[in-house]
Amino acid sequence: MNDKDKFYGVIGRLLTIDLSSQTVNIESIKHDYLKKYLGGAGYACRYLIEHIEENTPPLSEENILVIMTGPLCGTSAPSSGRFVICSKSPYTKLWAESNCGGYFGPELKKAGFDGIIIRGKSENHCYITIKGNKVEIIKDDKVWGKDIQETSERLKEKINEPQSKVLCIGQGGENLVKFANICADGRFAGRTGMGAVLGSKNLKGIIVKGKDYKPNIKNPKTFKDTTKSMMKEVLNTESAKIMRNYGTSAGVMGAYAKGDLPIKYWSKGTWENIMEISGDKYKEDLLVKNYACYRCPIGCGRIININNENYKANEIAGPEYETIAGFGSMILNDNLESIAIANDLCNRYGLDTISTSSSIALLFKLYNEGRINKEDVDGLDLNWGNDKAMLELIKKTAHREGIGDVIAEGSNAIGKEFNISHEEIATINTLEVPYHDMRACYGMALTYLFSPRGACHTTADAYKALYKANEIDFSSIDVKKTDVHSNSKELVSSTSNLQDYRAIYSSLVSCVFFNPIPKQMKNLINALFGYKFNLNDIKILGERIFTLKRLFNLKMGWDPDEEHIPEILLKPKSEGTARRKTPDYKKLRNYYYKFRDWDIKTGGPTSRKLKLLGLEGIKY
Ligand code: SF4
Repeated sequence: MNDKDKFYGVIGRLLTIDLSSQTVNIESIKHDYLKKYLGGAGYACRYLIEHIEENTPPLSEENILVIMTGPLCGTSAPSSGRFVICSKSPYTKLWAESNCGGYFGPELKKAGFDGIIIRGKSENHCYITIKGNKVEIIKDDKVWGKDIQETSERLKEKINEPQSKVLCIGQGGENLVKFANICADGRFAGRTGMGAVLGSKNLKGIIVKGKDYKPNIKNPKTFKDTTKSMMKEVLNTESAKIMRNYGTSAGVMGAYAKGDLPIKYWSKGTWENIMEISGDKYKEDLLVKNYACYRCPIGCGRIININNENYKANEIAGPEYETIAGFGSMILNDNLESIAIANDLCNRYGLDTISTSSSIALLFKLYNEGRINKEDVDGLDLNWGNDKAMLELIKKTAHREGIGDVIAEGSNAIGKEFNISHEEIATINTLEVPYHDMRACYGMALTYLFSPRGACHTTADAYKALYKANEIDFSSIDVKKTDVHSNSKELVSSTSNLQDYRAIYSSLVSCVFFNPIPKQMKNLINALFGYKFNLNDIKILGERIFTLKRLFNLKMGWDPDEEHIPEILLKPKSEGTARRKTPDYKKLRNYYYKFRDWDIKTGGPTSRKLKLLGLEGIKY
């Protein structure tokens, strides 16, 4: 084979499955897409922008779901076993991208596939088995109605391969809850309703057992040396040590100290019971052991036991920061065990914990303000902190029972049901805002406003990266540590550059908790593919991937006039570290358009920018 036709980083094969016609095919990875978008989410977006239209209903057989690994997956690179699930979101009707850890991605690659493209809709409830090259669609009515744990067990029994890896949905996805997620080995692809897309196709899950496929590496020695030095560098950082010791629960007190943690549905800056949900309390009362995704030296996952008079559970996955905030401080619930049970319920049903908790917290707020009553919420008492009622609402959501049918459509639907102004609802571009307060770091206003999938904190973790105290140095890609309360051009350029850099992570597909300096990432990419990129090339590559997702949204009919932040997220708090602070987001937004060379009227890049990024000619 001619070297220019040889693949590096990828196997070169995509599995395409049409559930309507029950056919399976293999198509080749496109070299030019790989070069321009790296793989992962960038590759998926380039594929989907050609195949999905503005009028494609997300929960129809016309929608397409792409599961993609990245070019680092299956190599020795640390924290590289993640994969993405992309489609048109049934929740936002925009770009859907859900990033997931665990071991499914590497197993798929070992089976000889870089990704799976799923089209159509099966007539019957079914699952897919992949055993090396043998791929089958299996009809199975009995698997429907089962939760994620039961489904994983059933599928593993069926394939009879103990080392196989399962990806599946719970009742949330089956019942088309708009923010249903997909589980793979206890890790979740959340936020954008990918579980509902799978459910709409009558597809309960996929089980894969790999063979011995491995991606080629152009310069194996340099690649190995780079991964070694990255590993050493990252493991010596304080943040990696904290993540290892506490997982993301360390973020509770860190966020509280900055005024970043939402309290009482975004209205308060302090809470006297905060220590009850702290990382220390979590470690002391619940933690059994850590767990790690494929080739991850950090291991931020938590396995916990719960044992008190009200709640008991053995060796279940522990809640992450976002879940603790959502089911804890957002509704003034200081019962950490109940938060862990809420997490477990969401994990079993396959519900995104941010959207579930934020929608439930909105009901708590309305109830406590006397704007809804018991009759509106199936007789439940939603006084602040009522953990039992919170758990009931999760169950109702998964099964769409009573008020759960409204919650399953998300916060904006709750607003509509009870005639609440959108200014009081903490969503941006439909999606519930994750639990990092933009009044603590103004960069988060831009992150949420311009995230391609609706309000998302992982698109640019400005809430960490822009702080002067942050130990990771992104200055080489022009992400400067800055005054997080300034409405400055520097804050805009740094946030925007961080979005571009994280877009590279979305294509690689790498974990945002693993942060070597950008030069190391560049060296790794060069060693893998044999490129000669400098850091400016890396910046352009990231900007191209980020901008491509913007084009996807414009194609879906995105109107830039809808870029709006509701008042509830802007109203200055009267206490806490971020008191009296609020971003001037309209000013920041104007700077942002100028910095990106986008047209504020159309919302799209200028033709000059499209040309610079090599995106001219893409129809959107
Ligand atoms: S840091 Fe945590 S989420 Fe990231 S790859 Fe490691 S275990 Fe998975």
